[in-house]
Amino acid sequence: MIGAVDIGGTKIAVGIVDDSGKVLAKALAPTDPDDYSAGIEQIADMLRKTAASAGVKVSGIGIGSTGPVDPMRGEFGDVDFLPGWRGKSIVGDLARKFGVRVALENDADAAALAEAGWGAGRNRSRLICVTIGTGIGGGIVLDGKLYRGVDGAHPELSHQVIDPAGPQCTCGFRGCWESLATGPAMGAWVKAHAPRDYPDGDAPTAKRIFELARQGDALALQAVEHEAYYLALGLANLINLFAPDAIVLSGSVMKSADLFLDRVREVIRSGCRFVPAEKTEISLASLGEDANLIGAARVWHYRFGT
Ligand SMILES: [Zn+2]
Repeated sequence: MIGAVDIGGTKIAVGIVDDSGKVLAKALAPTDPDDYSAGIEQIADMLRKTAASAGVKVSGIGIGSTGPVDPMRGEFGDVDFLPGWRGKSIVGDLARKFGVRVALENDADAAALAEAGWGAGRNRSRLICVTIGTGIGGGIVLDGKLYRGVDGAHPELSHQVIDPAGPQCTCGFRGCWESLATGPAMGAWVKAHAPRDYPDGDAPTAKRIFELARQGDALALQAVEHEAYYLALGLANLINLFAPDAIVLSGSVMKSADLFLDRVREVIRSGCRFVPAEKTEISLASLGEDANLIGAARVWHYRFGT
C-alpha cells in the first residue's frame, strides 16, 4: 500500500493506492505556498488519516509535484508558486517521519509513468503523455524508462515554440505551445477576437467556450478550431521528433475532446509525411479523476518496485 502525494500550486491531494493502481482513500487540502514546515505536517497528517480510513499501513510514499523538482536528491527546485518550499527535501523529511522509502518526480512524469504502467499506455514501448489544462505538461517513457535530460532534468514539451510571432511566454520566448494551446490561451484568444457586444468576451474559461461551441456559437467554434490547430502542431512536432507508438492526452481541455480530436488528427496527417504518423495512436488517458494520485503512487513503484 503506497501513500500517494500530489502537490500542485493551489492544492495538495493525498491518497492510499493499492498495488494495482486503485485509490482506496483520499483527502484534499489547499497548499500554503510560503510555509513548508506547516505543509509537511499537513501532508503527514493526511497520510496517517487516509491510511487509517483505508485500514492499512503505508509501506512506501510516492510524490508527484508541480515542477521543477530534483527527483534524485528528492528536493524541490525553483518552484515559482511555492516560494517557501524551494530547496526543501520532502523525500528525506517524509522518510524520517514514516520510516519508509520515498520517491519524488515531476507531476507530468508521474502521470506518464501511471499511464505507462496502469493506463492507456500499457505495452507501448515509446509513449508520450501530454496533459492540457491551465498549462501543458508532458512526460516521455521509452521502453519502460522515464526519459530524463541532463542532471535528471524534466524536458519541457510545453515550451516548444509553435509560432515565434505568438503571445509572450513566461519562459522568455514567444508563441510556446503553452501560450497557444492551454485553456487560458483559449480564453485569451476569445477575448482578443470578440466583438464588443459578445456576451462572454472577457476571457471566458475553456469550459465555457466548449459549451458555447456546442450551442453553435460562431466565435467559440473558431476558438475550438484554433485550439485543435495549435494542439495538433505541438503533437505533430513530437511525432516528427520521436515517432512514438502512442500519445496519451489528459487534462481539463481534453474533457471536450469529442469536439476537436478528429480535427487534431487531420492536422497531424496534413504534415508528418516522413514518419509513419498514422501508426502513432493518439488516445485519451484512462486513469480518470485520480490520475495524479495514481501517478504519485506509480512513482514509488517505478523507483523501488520489482
Ligand atoms: Zn515558453
